[in-house]
Amino acid sequence: MAIPPNVSPAAFNAALDAWRDAVGPEWVFTSEEDVALYRDAYSPFWGEPEERVASAAVAPATVEEVQAVVRAANEHRVPLYPISTGRNLAYGGSAPIYSGSVVLDLKRMNRVLEVNERNAYALVEPGVSYFDLYEHITKAGLDLWIDPPDPGWGSVIGNALDGGAGWTAYPFRDHFGAHCGMEVVLANGEIVRTGMGALPNSKSWQHSRWGYGPWVDGLFRQSNFGVVTKMGFWLMPRPEAMMSSMATSEREEDIIPMLDALNLLENQHVVNGSTQIFQGGRGPAGSAAWTIQVPIYGPEKVVRAQMDYAKAKFTAIPGVKFVEGELFRTPLTPEQLSRVRLVNFGIPNLSTFAMLGRNPGAPDPAGGHIGFSPIVPRTGESLLEFKRFYAENLPKVTNGENLGITGPVYMTCWERTLVCLIMFPIGRDKAMNAKMRHAFETWVRLAAERGWAEYRAPAVYQDLVADTYSFNNHALRRLRETLKDAIDPNGILSAGRYGVWPKHLRKT
Ligand SMILES: Cc1cc2nc3c(=O)[nH]c(=O)nc-3n(C[C@H](O)[C@H](O)[C@H](O)COP(=O)(O)OP(=O)(O)OC[C@H]3O[C@@H](n4cnc5c(N)ncnc54)[C@H](O)[C@@H]3O)c2cc1C
Repeated sequence: MAIPPNVSPAAFNAALDAWRDAVGPEWVFTSEEDVALYRDAYSPFWGEPEERVASAAVAPATVEEVQAVVRAANEHRVPLYPISTGRNLAYGGSAPIYSGSVVLDLKRMNRVLEVNERNAYALVEPGVSYFDLYEHITKAGLDLWIDPPDPGWGSVIGNALDGGAGWTAYPFRDHFGAHCGMEVVLANGEIVRTGMGALPNSKSWQHSRWGYGPWVDGLFRQSNFGVVTKMGFWLMPRPEAMMSSMATSEREEDIIPMLDALNLLENQHVVNGSTQIFQGGRGPAGSAAWTIQVPIYGPEKVVRAQMDYAKAKFTAIPGVKFVEGELFRTPLTPEQLSRVRLVNFGIPNLSTFAMLGRNPGAPDPAGGHIGFSPIVPRTGESLLEFKRFYAENLPKVTNGENLGITGPVYMTCWERTLVCLIMFPIGRDKAMNAKMRHAFETWVRLAAERGWAEYRAPAVYQDLVADTYSFNNHALRRLRETLKDAIDPNGILSAGRYGVWPKHLRKT
């Protein structure tokens, strides 16, 4: 049996006994075989000493059990790593950041506590996956959509807490942004409800986001300040229709006015779908230099009017063509469903994994990937600068080898934000993984020199990326550390997550 670092066997055994009492012995996992299930299948250090691994796992089924587990961990100073469904592939899987932590596995807490059709919200537990919530809504025949990320098996709460995003309309696809109200177990076992939930017998927990007084919800995003046991989410009433058109242009520099047009349309809330910006043409766009997808959700008449307006804005740019897409009335027919990207219609699935699988273009795929995803200003000039930056530096970063690194993918999941994603294949070949690590680390450094940094990072690189947010001698990190020391003085929760370490593990 593995023992967490800095914990004596006696203290660990005492914690294990307390957990067995609290959750039942069958839900405390210490065998090598069980614990191996929490390894990160996409770890860039797979099979190497630096791979982050758990020592044990414990799986409570209720909030009271979570409290008991956390209290015992706090008493015996055992590091815990809470996960919801633990499918955080590309960002650490279900493995802890601090090797040897015990995984606090919340997937058994999988109740959909409420779905309110009239006010369009849901209140869920951490183990509720996108599949679960979709099934619940579909079975109940509610006229609501969820917003799944590409893999539908993840947790609605876990994805939101890691800063994830989906593919339907704004604001719903910003998953943390679409939440309303949380319940959190703190490191001392105390339960806090945020927003209107702090009012005993509150009738409006999921009706008003800000509550009263300082808003603390943001402290629990990409953080290690508590274990989230409930979270509310605003849902999209099923839109009557969705139409996705394409703006294309032949000239490289046209991306500058095109992105200005897109920004205007989004900032006016005329275009609300998840736009994608492609280099080159797509479908009828043929040989274009740039293609921007323009998806709009809403009532059919409104969508058509908004699309006319969007078309006018794009075609006012000399040389830009606008190809009107098909208008889909919801719910889609089986035939339509067979040829659309399901996540754009709120339907969870796992087809994204085909991208990483064996195919004619990739006869021997690595199997996994990690991504470097810096945020750059949402302007055509910045996009072109990033494109040049990528092309100029790729040979340096890879020592001229073709490592299968791909990019940049230009993503607009968040309002006003442009993410330029570079993807690195990760597999079981240690030498290859080492080359990927070198490339990843170099990109982080080079991008930071230009004033660009990531919105989310793989577990093993959360320190490296946090280091780039260094304004005023790391003032932001020091503020977070002050909060960490106050909220979790023994430093038992998710040590190291997003670069925040408890006092006893901090590097000087
Ligand atoms: C091919 C591919 C495509 C992907 N596409 C997308 C995409 O479209 N959008 C996207 O957002 N991501 C995407 N991902 C990344 C990732 O797989 C998903 O974000 C996934 O939903 C995260 O896993 P999860 O939901 O199980 O969260 P978890 O693994 O349960 O949680 C993530 C992290 O949040 C913290 N956490 C979770 N629950 C709690 C809690 N209750 N209390 C405190 N802390 C907690 C933990 O640190 C945990 O490690 C993709 C990955 C791959 C491989």
